[in-house]
Formats: sequence, C-alpha cells, structure tokens
Amino acid sequence: MKIAFIGLGNMGGGMAANLVKAGHDVKAFDLSADALERAAGNGCETFTEAKEAVAGVDAVVSMLPNGKIVDAVYSGDVIGHAPTEAILLDCSTIDVATARKVAGDADGAGYAMVDAPVSGGIAAADGGTLTFMVGGAADAFARADPILSVMGKAVIHAGDSGAGQAAKICNNMLLGASMIATCETFKLADKLGLDLQTFYDISSKASGQNWSMTSYCPVPGVGPQSPADNEYAGGFATALMLKDLRLAMEAASGADADVPMGGRAAELYEAFAEENGGLDFSAIIKSLG
Ligand code: NAD
Repeated sequence: MKIAFIGLGNMGGGMAANLVKAGHDVKAFDLSADALERAAGNGCETFTEAKEAVAGVDAVVSMLPNGKIVDAVYSGDVIGHAPTEAILLDCSTIDVATARKVAGDADGAGYAMVDAPVSGGIAAADGGTLTFMVGGAADAFARADPILSVMGKAVIHAGDSGAGQAAKICNNMLLGASMIATCETFKLADKLGLDLQTFYDISSKASGQNWSMTSYCPVPGVGPQSPADNEYAGGFATALMLKDLRLAMEAASGADADVPMGGRAAELYEAFAEENGGLDFSAIIKSLG
C-alpha cells in the first residue's frame, strides 16, 4: 500500500518505520528536517510538501501535536489533495470537537476518516505494540484496522467519529487520578511506619490494586521496573499527562459532566508541570509531603 505519514516525531517516527518493515511504501512529511532525515534512514520516501506526500496514496496517517495543527494540515494539505479513495487516519491525541469537525470536513469531501489515538509511549510506538482506540463508521474502521494492526497490539472500535478521542481522554483522566491516589497512599503508608514493599505485597493483592501501582509503581525499588527506578526519566512525560487532563476537563465542561477527582488531578499536574514537565508523570510523588 502507498501510505502518506505526516508528523514523524517521537511517536510517528517509530510508527512509520513499522509500516515500512511491513512492506508498505511510506511517503513521509514533517516540518522538521531532522525528523525527515530519521524517516529516510528508516526507509521512508521523504517530501518537503505535505500535498506532494499525499498525492496518489491509498491511506494518510498523521501523528501531530494538537487539534489546531491537525485541522490545519487536513484542511490545507490533505482534503482535496489525497485521492478520495484514500482512508484518512489521525492518530494524534486531540480534542473530541476538533476530531469530529475534521472527520466531518473529510466526509463532506468524499473521504472516510477515523480518529485513532494511542495508548502506549515511544517504546510501544517503536515496538509496534500500541493500543489504538478508534472512532468512525464501521466500514472506515474495517479499512483502518489492517493498517493500525501493523503498528499496534490492539485495535478497538470505540464508536462513531470522536469516540476514539473520548475513550483516550477518559482513560487518561482515570490514569492521572489513580497515579496521584497511588502516590499519596504510599506516602501515607511510609509515614505510618509501614515497610513499602510489604505494603505493596498487601495492596497489590487487595482491593487497592490498580495499574499505577502494579505496572508502574511510583516508588523506586518497589514493584516492577518503572521510570521511578530510573529517576523518573523516560516513560510518559508529565507535560503530556497535563495535555490529556486539560482535554478531559474541556470535554467534561462541554458535556456538563461532574469530574471532581479529574479536576483535582488536572490542578495538581498543572502545578507540578511548571518545573517538571519533562519528568515521567509518576514523579508527582516528589511533590507530596
Ligand atoms: P513530537 O513533538 O515528538 O512529534 C510531533 C511531530 O509533528 C514533530 O516531528 C513536528 O515537527 C511535527 N509537526 C508539527 N506540526 C506539523 C505540521 N504542520 N506538519 C507536519 N509535521 C508537523 O510529539 P509525539 O510525542 O510524537 O506526539 C505526537 C502525538 O501523539 C501527540 O498528539 C501526543 O499527545 C500523542 N501521544 C504521545 C505519546 C508519547 O509518549 N510521546 C503517547 C501517546 C500519545
């Protein structure tokens, strides 16, 4: 298949490389010359104009920083420039309203489009083990599925247009709140004189068990290997968690949903990100007394 790939940064670079490895002919566009050079090294054909990259392709995949950029790229360079037979897949994390607006614009011009944000970080993008949550019509999902399957271990149809983004921000709001709850729990356990490994052994087999504890423990030396064991480097950056929590707050306010725990998590990450945006999000444990 001929696939245009737009946005070959930390995530998109590895995703495009996996499409090449699977035998696809990948036409890469990014504003960054460095990103394009890395893409060329991974076997992509590179372009300095997005319109040229999308000409004559069977699919367009994008992995971009935010909704404003996604809207600008699709309205300026993809819609009307890619063949209408091409399936459009936006894998960026963006707000639900923009995802629906761009898919509506695409539909109006005769294209099928899905929003397909991911769970999993740079290692999962490189390793082809991302989880995709997909919003769009059933026939668009059926066309997107084999392309996404090359880049991920799970591809799940969440519902109509925008449902992928909705699932992503709901999941990450839960993750942000549960990480903070896990951090403060370990701090309290420590102050109450509990041995933290012993507390982990108990809580990981009791009703407090959750992913932030047993797959990503924020306490160094406790539980499985995690960014906490590497001074909170790598992993999922605090700045990206804050981005997702802001999107969740925006969506909650638009949907008139009460999210007091999500709201508090957003406030705490807002404060922590001021000086620690590059650290893994589990580092928020360091801000708790
Ligand atoms: P990144 O900043 O590393 O990459 C984005 C790329 O888009 C850059 O190479 C940039 O030059 C390019 N770009 C920006 N504007 C462009 C334009 N107009 N045309 C073409 N290219 C343009 O970001 P990333 O970490 O790869 O994240 C990409 C998306 O994935 C974001 O929406 C992010 O929220 C989401 N995400 C990231 C992670 C993660 O761990 N990094 C995890 C899950 C989801």
